[in-house]
Amino acid sequence: MTEFPCYRCGACCRNVHLAIETAHLDRGDGCCRHYDEKQKLCLIYSDRPDICRINVQYAEKYINHMSWESFCAINLEACRQLEKLVASRNIDTSSKMSAIAIELSKIIPS
Ligand code: SF4
Ligand code: SF4
Repeated sequence: MTEFPCYRCGACCRNVHLAIETAHLDRGDGCCRHYDEKQKLCLIYSDRPDICRINVQYAEKYINHMSWESFCAINLEACRQLEKLVASRNIDTSSKMSAIAIELSKIIPS
């Protein structure tokens, strides 16, 4: 299995409040309590929850539905869309945004 091509924009870790699965990680402003914004790194990377592990999410929920390559391609597009929407500051009002964020909650890099 190839590595997910995360380009470390941090959009997923900075918006955990948008997905039910990751809302418990919110430090109060939408950003994960374990995210170091200066270094753009997860401070608990080796112990991060399964919802933050794309390979685990794929194995548990998607492996019988699509290839790893297709799964990565879909989620990479979600990354790009989330990054654009975060930049446009429409994040709190867009239902599409929430749908993308839910997908992103599954794909934080392994
Ligand atoms: S998984 Fe996607 S949204 Fe999250 S840091 Fe990587 S590229 Fe950005
Ligand atoms: S990978 Fe998960 S635990 Fe780590 S900073 Fe991102 S959202 Fe938080």
